[in-house]
Amino acid sequence: MTKIRTLREVDVAGKRVLLRVDFNVPIVDGGVGDDTRIRASLPTIRFILDRGASVVLVSHLGRPKGQPRGDLRLAPVAAHLSTLLNHPVKYASDVVGPEAQRLASALQPGDLLLVENVRFDAGEEGNDPEFARALARLGDVFVNDAFGTAHRAHSSTVGVAALLPAYAGLLMERELEVLEHLLERPQRPFVAILGGAKVSDKLGVMLHLLDRVDGLLVGGGMANTFLLAQGHDVGASLAERDLQDQAREILTQAEAKGVELVLPVDVVVAPALDEEGFVRDSPSVPADLAIFDIGPVTAERFAEHIERAATVFWNGPMGVFERPAFARGTEVVAAAVASTEATTVVGGGDSIAAIEYLGLTDRIDHVSTGGGASLELLEGKELPGVAVLRDASPSS
Ligand code: AMP
Repeated sequence: MTKIRTLREVDVAGKRVLLRVDFNVPIVDGGVGDDTRIRASLPTIRFILDRGASVVLVSHLGRPKGQPRGDLRLAPVAAHLSTLLNHPVKYASDVVGPEAQRLASALQPGDLLLVENVRFDAGEEGNDPEFARALARLGDVFVNDAFGTAHRAHSSTVGVAALLPAYAGLLMERELEVLEHLLERPQRPFVAILGGAKVSDKLGVMLHLLDRVDGLLVGGGMANTFLLAQGHDVGASLAERDLQDQAREILTQAEAKGVELVLPVDVVVAPALDEEGFVRDSPSVPADLAIFDIGPVTAERFAEHIERAATVFWNGPMGVFERPAFARGTEVVAAAVASTEATTVVGGGDSIAAIEYLGLTDRIDHVSTGGGASLELLEGKELPGVAVLRDASPSS
């Protein structure tokens, strides 16, 4: 694969840089809630401003489906960014309309402009060429720092990159470096922990990782399909019964490849989510009970695997961690990931939330800003928003 072009390679002095960022942050009471994603792009913004360029920021927020929506405007983000940078941020209340074009063309070196939520225009998600051309008129150079959206072929991630010289921002560069390193030359033993609701979301990633990992620890709702495939009854648990064959195939491949695939040996169950949970020391469950977390013996076993690893990747909670009664497995895994000496990479909103809730974020080597994008990358897929940043000729 050819290498990506990065912001470090281009002289942006005196230019207007159209910078695609992922400012898809929660808006709480009219202000920005968790601002992790905004902070993650600050080094790129500062890097560009320090080199005497101006910046036109483009982001999406939520899912307005091509229509303006009052609660998904980016005005609070502009205000928040201005505070974080201690620098004025101009804000256009349209995306590529007259106000955005007027403000963009008046920018001086060192100026910052944030245009309105790019998904207010249906041309964004449709990767409409006309809309991409309008976006391209806002800048001289395109830089993409929105790793979390790189798996989408939209106008602001793909279309515009064909119209302007296109480069990866510092955050995008780091995300790719860390995740590609996991696939290409991880230090061994490499242990991946996968959880979350569904196997269907993670089948591709599991298959691809089987050739690269030494251990695969599986928890969360997705483990139930594997338990079924092993012949256990999982009662009223969430499970994808139609995927048992695929789960069986993964178990067979893991064995053939010498990968230790570790499933729950005990579980926390309850008749329903709002009822009290209790531990069962077997993963077989009667019809009136559902599995909502891994059990303490399993959590300890997972922690031991994590302790022995040199590289750890984690995506997805071990149970319904939103409810304290079923959060213990996720907490034990989070603590083990935080305390190991191994290189640790965590992706996916829920695993990150668990790490943050426990105050352990600083103890993770890399917290990926893109859950879906990081999984697609680890599945071995080329992300459309990254493909357009690659050099046409092979690197030496
Ligand atoms: P995902 O988006 O696939 O990472 O899934 C995250 C969701 O999976 C969280 O909201 C969890 O509550 C849910 N989850 C994890 N374990 C279970 C389980 N055993 N049963 C039902 N839901 C689960």
